[in-house]
Amino acid sequence: MRILVTGAAGFLGSHLCDRLLAEGHEVIGMDNFITGNPQNLAHLAGNERFSFIRHDVSNFIFVPGKLDGVFHFASPASPNPNSPYGYVNLPIQTMKAGALGTHNTLGVARAHDARFLLASTSEIYGDPLEHPQTESYWGHVDPNGPRSVYDEAKRFAEALTMAYHRFHCINTSIVRIFNTYGPRMRVDDGRVVPNFLKQALCGESLTIYGDGEQTRSFCYVSDLIDGIYRLFMSGEHDPVNIGNPVETNILEFAQMINALTQNATEMTFHPQQRGEGDPQRRRPDITRAQSILGWEPHVSLEEGLQKTIPYFITQLGLA
Ligand code: NAD
Ligand code: UDP
Repeated sequence: MRILVTGAAGFLGSHLCDRLLAEGHEVIGMDNFITGNPQNLAHLAGNERFSFIRHDVSNFIFVPGKLDGVFHFASPASPNPNSPYGYVNLPIQTMKAGALGTHNTLGVARAHDARFLLASTSEIYGDPLEHPQTESYWGHVDPNGPRSVYDEAKRFAEALTMAYHRFHCINTSIVRIFNTYGPRMRVDDGRVVPNFLKQALCGESLTIYGDGEQTRSFCYVSDLIDGIYRLFMSGEHDPVNIGNPVETNILEFAQMINALTQNATEMTFHPQQRGEGDPQRRRPDITRAQSILGWEPHVSLEEGLQKTIPYFITQLGLA
Protein backbone atom coordinates (compact mmCIF):
# COMPACT_ATOMS: atom_id res chain seq x y z
CA MET A 1 0.00 0.00 0.00
CA ARG A 2 0.99 3.64 -0.46
CA ILE A 3 0.23 5.37 2.84
CA LEU A 4 0.18 8.98 4.10
CA VAL A 5 1.14 9.50 7.78
CA THR A 6 0.50 12.96 9.25
CA GLY A 7 2.47 13.84 12.38
CA ALA A 8 5.25 11.63 10.98
CA ALA A 9 8.08 13.52 12.73
CA GLY A 10 6.45 13.05 16.12
CA PHE A 11 6.96 10.33 18.70
CA LEU A 12 4.20 7.95 17.59
CA GLY A 13 4.14 8.99 13.92
CA SER A 14 7.81 8.13 13.43
CA HIS A 15 7.40 4.67 15.01
CA LEU A 16 4.33 4.13 12.85
CA CYS A 17 6.33 4.99 9.71
CA ASP A 18 8.95 2.42 10.74
CA ARG A 19 6.31 -0.27 11.22
CA LEU A 20 4.59 0.46 7.90
CA LEU A 21 7.92 0.35 6.07
CA ALA A 22 8.80 -2.91 7.82
CA GLU A 23 5.49 -4.35 6.57
CA GLY A 24 6.59 -3.52 3.00
CA HIS A 25 4.43 -0.44 2.40
CA GLU A 26 5.44 2.84 0.79
CA VAL A 27 5.13 5.77 3.21
CA ILE A 28 4.70 9.50 2.71
CA GLY A 29 5.35 11.38 5.95
CA MET A 30 3.83 14.82 6.52
CA ASP A 31 4.61 17.22 9.36
CA ASN A 32 5.12 20.93 10.10
CA PHE A 33 7.48 20.24 13.09
CA ILE A 34 5.37 22.27 15.54
CA THR A 35 6.04 19.69 18.28
CA GLY A 36 7.91 17.06 16.26
CA ASN A 37 11.57 16.56 15.54
CA PRO A 38 13.17 15.92 12.11
CA GLN A 39 15.73 13.70 13.90
CA ASN A 40 12.94 11.16 14.46
CA LEU A 41 12.96 10.51 10.69
CA ALA A 42 16.69 10.96 10.03
CA HIS A 43 17.29 7.20 9.83
CA LEU A 44 14.85 6.99 6.90
CA ALA A 45 16.89 9.29 4.65
CA GLY A 46 17.83 7.24 1.61
CA ASN A 47 14.97 4.76 2.06
CA GLU A 48 13.38 4.73 -1.38
CA ARG A 49 9.98 3.69 -0.01
CA PHE A 50 9.86 6.78 2.24
CA SER A 51 9.28 10.40 1.26
CA PHE A 52 8.42 13.49 3.25
CA ILE A 53 6.25 16.57 2.70
CA ARG A 54 6.63 19.53 5.05
CA HIS A 55 3.10 20.85 5.38
CA ASP A 56 0.55 22.11 7.92
CA VAL A 57 -2.45 19.75 7.78
CA SER A 58 -4.77 22.66 8.63
CA ASN A 59 -4.31 23.73 5.01
CA PHE A 60 -5.55 21.91 1.93
CA ILE A 61 -3.50 18.75 1.34
CA PHE A 62 -2.41 17.55 -2.07
CA VAL A 63 -0.59 14.25 -2.47
CA PRO A 64 0.50 13.35 -6.00
CA GLY A 65 -0.05 9.77 -7.18
CA LYS A 66 -2.36 7.14 -5.72
CA LEU A 67 -2.95 6.56 -2.01
CA ASP A 68 -4.31 3.47 -0.28
CA GLY A 69 -4.22 4.60 3.32
CA VAL A 70 -4.13 7.72 5.53
CA PHE A 71 -3.13 7.84 9.21
CA HIS A 72 -3.99 11.18 10.83
CA PHE A 73 -1.62 11.61 13.80
CA ALA A 74 -0.77 15.33 13.50
CA SER A 75 -1.65 17.17 16.72
CA PRO A 76 0.16 18.61 19.72
CA ALA A 77 -0.30 16.02 22.48
CA SER A 78 1.21 17.22 25.77
CA PRO A 79 -1.11 18.85 28.30
CA ASN A 80 1.68 20.50 30.32
CA PRO A 81 1.36 24.32 30.38
CA ASN A 82 5.00 24.58 31.55
CA SER A 83 6.23 23.24 28.21
CA PRO A 84 6.32 25.35 25.05
CA TYR A 85 5.08 22.20 23.30
CA GLY A 86 2.03 21.82 25.56
CA TYR A 87 -1.28 22.20 23.73
CA VAL A 88 -2.43 24.72 26.30
CA ASN A 89 0.24 26.99 24.79
CA LEU A 90 -0.73 26.04 21.22
CA PRO A 91 -4.50 26.24 21.60
CA ILE A 92 -5.56 27.45 18.15
CA GLN A 93 -3.05 25.21 16.34
CA THR A 94 -4.36 22.24 18.34
CA MET A 95 -7.98 22.93 17.45
CA LYS A 96 -7.07 23.45 13.80
CA ALA A 97 -5.05 20.18 13.60
CA GLY A 98 -7.96 18.25 15.14
CA ALA A 99 -10.74 19.97 13.21
CA LEU A 100 -9.41 21.33 9.89
CA GLY A 101 -6.63 18.73 9.75
CA THR A 102 -9.12 15.89 10.18
CA HIS A 103 -11.37 17.42 7.51
CA ASN A 104 -8.46 17.75 5.09
CA THR A 105 -7.09 14.25 5.71
CA LEU A 106 -10.55 12.71 5.37
CA GLY A 107 -10.87 14.65 2.12
CA VAL A 108 -7.63 13.09 0.90
CA ALA A 109 -8.87 9.62 1.89
CA ARG A 110 -12.12 10.23 0.03
CA ALA A 111 -10.38 11.56 -3.09
CA HIS A 112 -8.20 8.43 -3.24
CA ASP A 113 -10.78 5.97 -1.90
CA ALA A 114 -8.18 5.16 0.76
CA ARG A 115 -8.57 3.67 4.23
CA PHE A 116 -8.37 6.21 7.06
CA LEU A 117 -7.28 5.87 10.68
CA LEU A 118 -7.70 8.65 13.25
CA ALA A 119 -5.42 8.94 16.28
CA SER A 120 -7.96 9.72 18.98
CA THR A 121 -7.32 9.69 22.71
CA SER A 122 -8.41 8.60 26.17
CA GLU A 123 -9.10 12.33 26.72
CA ILE A 124 -12.39 11.60 24.94
CA TYR A 125 -13.44 10.31 28.39
CA GLY A 126 -12.30 13.53 30.16
CA ASP A 127 -12.06 13.11 33.93
CA PRO A 128 -13.98 9.82 33.77
CA LEU A 129 -16.78 8.84 36.12
CA GLU A 130 -16.69 5.25 34.82
CA HIS A 131 -13.69 3.07 35.57
CA PRO A 132 -12.10 1.39 33.70
CA GLN A 133 -13.14 3.19 30.52
CA THR A 134 -15.02 1.21 27.87
CA GLU A 135 -15.56 2.58 24.36
CA SER A 136 -19.29 2.93 25.05
CA TYR A 137 -18.67 5.51 27.81
CA TRP A 138 -19.50 9.04 26.56
CA GLY A 139 -17.13 10.81 28.90
CA HIS A 140 -17.07 13.63 31.42
CA VAL A 141 -15.44 16.48 29.53
CA ASP A 142 -15.15 20.20 30.23
CA PRO A 143 -16.16 21.84 26.93
CA ASN A 144 -14.29 25.13 27.44
CA GLY A 145 -11.52 24.71 30.08
CA PRO A 146 -7.79 24.80 29.22
CA ARG A 147 -7.72 21.13 28.07
CA SER A 148 -10.85 21.61 25.94
CA VAL A 149 -8.80 22.71 22.93
CA TYR A 150 -7.46 19.16 22.70
CA ASP A 151 -10.42 17.18 24.02
CA GLU A 152 -13.07 18.92 21.95
CA ALA A 153 -10.94 18.89 18.79
CA LYS A 154 -10.55 15.12 19.17
CA ARG A 155 -14.26 14.68 19.87
CA PHE A 156 -15.05 16.71 16.75
CA ALA A 157 -12.50 14.62 14.84
CA GLU A 158 -14.21 11.39 15.90
CA ALA A 159 -17.63 12.76 14.90
CA LEU A 160 -16.33 13.93 11.50
CA THR A 161 -14.62 10.58 10.90
CA MET A 162 -17.89 8.73 11.57
CA ALA A 163 -19.76 11.21 9.34
CA TYR A 164 -17.37 10.45 6.44
CA HIS A 165 -17.80 6.75 7.11
CA ARG A 166 -21.60 6.89 7.29
CA PHE A 167 -22.22 9.47 4.56
CA HIS A 168 -19.33 8.90 2.13
CA CYS A 169 -18.76 5.19 2.96
CA ILE A 170 -15.05 5.76 3.69
CA ASN A 171 -13.33 2.81 5.36
CA THR A 172 -12.43 4.55 8.64
CA SER A 173 -11.02 3.43 11.99
CA ILE A 174 -10.64 5.31 15.27
CA VAL A 175 -8.03 4.37 17.89
CA ARG A 176 -8.36 5.81 21.38
CA ILE A 177 -4.77 5.92 22.55
CA PHE A 178 -4.01 5.75 26.28
CA ASN A 179 -0.75 7.18 27.73
CA THR A 180 2.09 5.79 25.62
CA TYR A 181 5.81 6.29 26.12
CA GLY A 182 9.15 5.29 24.65
CA PRO A 183 12.18 6.54 22.74
CA ARG A 184 11.71 9.65 20.54
CA MET A 185 9.48 11.49 23.01
CA ARG A 186 10.72 15.05 23.29
CA VAL A 187 12.78 15.46 26.46
CA ASP A 188 11.11 18.84 27.08
CA ASP A 189 7.60 17.92 25.96
CA GLY A 190 6.29 18.14 29.52
CA ARG A 191 4.46 14.81 29.72
CA VAL A 192 5.09 12.81 32.84
CA VAL A 193 7.45 10.19 31.36
CA PRO A 194 9.92 12.65 29.78
CA ASN A 195 9.65 15.02 32.74
CA PHE A 196 10.39 12.34 35.32
CA LEU A 197 13.13 10.67 33.29
CA LYS A 198 14.89 13.96 32.62
CA GLN A 199 14.69 14.97 36.27
CA ALA A 200 15.78 11.57 37.58
CA LEU A 201 18.71 11.18 35.18
CA CYS A 202 19.92 14.67 36.10
CA GLY A 203 19.68 13.84 39.81
CA GLU A 204 16.89 16.36 40.38
CA SER A 205 13.71 16.00 42.39
CA LEU A 206 10.70 14.62 40.57
CA THR A 207 7.86 17.14 40.37
CA ILE A 208 4.59 15.62 41.56
CA TYR A 209 1.57 17.66 40.50
CA GLY A 210 -1.14 17.44 43.15
CA ASP A 211 -0.95 14.63 45.73
CA GLY A 212 0.25 11.99 43.25
CA GLU A 213 -2.79 9.79 43.94
CA GLN A 214 -4.05 10.28 40.36
CA THR A 215 -3.57 7.21 38.19
CA ARG A 216 -2.48 6.47 34.62
CA SER A 217 -1.92 3.24 32.67
CA PHE A 218 1.27 3.36 30.61
CA CYS A 219 1.73 1.51 27.33
CA TYR A 220 5.08 0.91 25.64
CA VAL A 221 5.23 2.25 22.09
CA SER A 222 5.84 -1.06 20.27
CA ASP A 223 2.71 -2.58 21.84
CA LEU A 224 0.64 0.45 20.85
CA ILE A 225 1.87 0.51 17.25
CA ASP A 226 1.11 -3.19 16.90
CA GLY A 227 -2.48 -2.61 18.05
CA ILE A 228 -2.87 0.33 15.69
CA TYR A 229 -1.58 -1.63 12.71
CA ARG A 230 -3.96 -4.48 13.47
CA LEU A 231 -6.84 -2.02 13.73
CA PHE A 232 -5.96 -0.42 10.39
CA MET A 233 -5.98 -3.85 8.71
CA SER A 234 -9.19 -4.98 10.45
CA GLY A 235 -11.82 -2.77 8.81
CA GLU A 236 -13.36 -2.05 12.23
CA HIS A 237 -15.16 1.32 12.20
CA ASP A 238 -16.19 1.92 15.81
CA PRO A 239 -13.60 3.33 18.25
CA VAL A 240 -11.17 0.88 19.88
CA ASN A 241 -9.16 1.54 23.04
CA ILE A 242 -5.47 0.66 22.73
CA GLY A 243 -3.45 0.91 25.91
CA ASN A 244 -1.99 -1.09 28.75
CA PRO A 245 -4.58 -1.83 31.46
CA VAL A 246 -2.01 -2.02 34.27
CA GLU A 247 -2.81 1.05 36.37
CA THR A 248 -0.38 2.88 38.62
CA ASN A 249 -0.59 6.08 40.59
CA ILE A 250 1.83 8.90 39.86
CA LEU A 251 3.56 8.57 43.22
CA GLU A 252 4.30 4.86 42.69
CA PHE A 253 5.40 5.66 39.15
CA ALA A 254 7.82 8.30 40.42
CA GLN A 255 9.24 5.82 42.95
CA MET A 256 9.79 3.28 40.16
CA ILE A 257 11.64 5.85 38.04
CA ASN A 258 13.83 6.90 40.94
CA ALA A 259 14.67 3.25 41.66
CA LEU A 260 15.50 2.45 38.03
CA THR A 261 17.73 5.51 37.69
CA GLN A 262 19.15 5.34 41.23
CA ASN A 263 18.02 8.88 41.93
CA ALA A 264 18.01 9.55 45.66
CA THR A 265 16.77 13.16 45.53
CA GLU A 266 13.47 13.71 47.39
CA MET A 267 10.36 14.34 45.30
CA THR A 268 8.64 17.71 45.49
CA PHE A 269 4.91 18.37 45.48
CA HIS A 270 3.45 21.16 43.36
CA PRO A 271 -0.03 22.57 42.90
CA GLN A 272 -2.04 20.67 40.34
CA GLN A 273 -0.91 22.43 37.16
CA ARG A 274 -4.13 21.96 35.34
CA GLY A 275 -6.57 22.64 38.17
CA GLU A 276 -9.57 20.38 38.16
CA GLY A 277 -8.99 19.32 34.57
CA ASP A 278 -6.42 16.64 35.45
CA PRO A 279 -8.14 13.25 35.20
CA GLN A 280 -8.02 11.46 38.56
CA ARG A 281 -8.15 7.93 37.18
CA ARG A 282 -7.45 6.42 33.78
CA ARG A 283 -7.36 2.78 32.70
CA PRO A 284 -8.45 1.28 29.40
CA ASP A 285 -10.87 -1.60 29.15
CA ILE A 286 -9.26 -3.47 26.24
CA THR A 287 -11.90 -6.20 25.81
CA ARG A 288 -12.77 -4.95 22.31
CA ALA A 289 -9.15 -4.85 21.19
CA GLN A 290 -8.64 -8.36 22.55
CA SER A 291 -11.70 -9.82 20.84
CA ILE A 292 -11.67 -7.90 17.53
CA LEU A 293 -7.91 -7.59 16.96
CA GLY A 294 -6.52 -10.45 19.06
CA TRP A 295 -4.31 -7.77 20.62
CA GLU A 296 -2.97 -7.19 24.10
CA PRO A 297 0.20 -5.52 25.37
CA HIS A 298 3.27 -7.59 26.25
CA VAL A 299 5.86 -5.10 27.53
CA SER A 300 5.73 -4.44 31.29
CA LEU A 301 6.20 -0.92 32.62
CA GLU A 302 9.61 -1.70 34.09
CA GLU A 303 10.77 -3.37 30.87
CA GLY A 304 9.49 -0.46 28.76
CA LEU A 305 11.24 2.10 30.95
CA GLN A 306 14.48 0.11 30.69
CA LYS A 307 14.17 0.32 26.89
CA THR A 308 13.46 4.08 27.08
CA ILE A 309 16.15 5.22 29.51
CA PRO A 310 19.14 4.84 27.12
CA TYR A 311 17.44 7.18 24.61
CA PHE A 312 17.01 9.87 27.28
CA ILE A 313 20.60 9.43 28.45
CA THR A 314 21.77 10.12 24.88
CA GLN A 315 19.39 13.04 24.36
CA LEU A 316 20.51 14.66 27.61
CA GLY A 317 24.16 14.27 26.62
CA LEU A 318 24.87 12.04 29.63
CA ALA A 319 26.25 9.08 27.69
P1 NAD B 1 4.06 14.41 19.11
O1 NAD B 1 3.92 15.83 19.52
O2 NAD B 1 5.38 13.75 19.31
O3 NAD B 1 3.68 14.21 17.58
C1 NAD B 1 2.71 14.99 16.92
C2 NAD B 1 3.27 15.39 15.56
O4 NAD B 1 2.27 16.13 14.83
C3 NAD B 1 4.49 16.32 15.68
O5 NAD B 1 5.54 15.86 14.85
C4 NAD B 1 3.97 17.68 15.20
O6 NAD B 1 4.97 18.48 14.63
C5 NAD B 1 2.90 17.24 14.20
N1 NAD B 1 1.87 18.26 13.96
C6 NAD B 1 1.09 18.89 14.87
N2 NAD B 1 0.28 19.77 14.26
C7 NAD B 1 0.53 19.67 12.93
C8 NAD B 1 0.01 20.31 11.78
N3 NAD B 1 -0.95 21.25 11.86
N4 NAD B 1 0.48 19.95 10.56
C9 NAD B 1 1.44 18.99 10.43
N5 NAD B 1 1.98 18.37 11.50
C10 NAD B 1 1.54 18.71 12.73
O7 NAD B 1 2.92 13.59 19.89
P2 NAD B 1 2.59 12.03 19.89
O8 NAD B 1 2.59 11.57 21.28
O9 NAD B 1 3.39 11.33 18.88
O10 NAD B 1 1.06 12.05 19.40
C11 NAD B 1 0.69 11.68 18.09
C12 NAD B 1 -0.83 11.56 18.01
O11 NAD B 1 -1.29 10.56 18.93
C13 NAD B 1 -1.56 12.85 18.34
O12 NAD B 1 -2.68 12.97 17.46
C14 NAD B 1 -2.03 12.62 19.76
O13 NAD B 1 -3.21 13.33 20.02
C15 NAD B 1 -2.26 11.12 19.79
N6 NAD B 1 -2.17 10.56 21.14
C16 NAD B 1 -0.96 10.31 21.70
C17 NAD B 1 -0.91 9.78 23.00
C18 NAD B 1 0.39 9.42 23.67
O14 NAD B 1 0.36 8.93 24.80
N7 NAD B 1 1.54 9.57 23.07
C19 NAD B 1 -2.10 9.56 23.71
C20 NAD B 1 -3.30 9.87 23.10
C21 NAD B 1 -3.34 10.35 21.81
N1 UDP C 1 2.51 14.90 36.19
C1 UDP C 1 3.27 15.09 37.33
N2 UDP C 1 4.49 15.68 37.23
C2 UDP C 1 5.03 16.06 36.03
C3 UDP C 1 4.26 15.85 34.85
C4 UDP C 1 3.00 15.27 34.97
O1 UDP C 1 2.83 14.76 38.45
O2 UDP C 1 6.15 16.57 36.02
C5 UDP C 1 1.19 14.26 36.30
C6 UDP C 1 0.05 15.03 35.64
O3 UDP C 1 -0.49 16.01 36.52
C7 UDP C 1 -0.94 13.92 35.33
C8 UDP C 1 -0.03 12.71 35.04
O4 UDP C 1 1.24 13.03 35.59
O5 UDP C 1 -1.72 13.63 36.46
C9 UDP C 1 0.13 12.40 33.56
O6 UDP C 1 0.45 13.60 32.91
P1 UDP C 1 0.84 13.73 31.38
O7 UDP C 1 1.25 15.14 31.16
O8 UDP C 1 1.82 12.68 31.00
O9 UDP C 1 -0.48 13.45 30.51
P2 UDP C 1 -2.03 13.21 30.79
O10 UDP C 1 -2.17 11.77 31.09
O11 UDP C 1 -2.50 14.07 31.92
O12 UDP C 1 -2.67 13.58 29.50
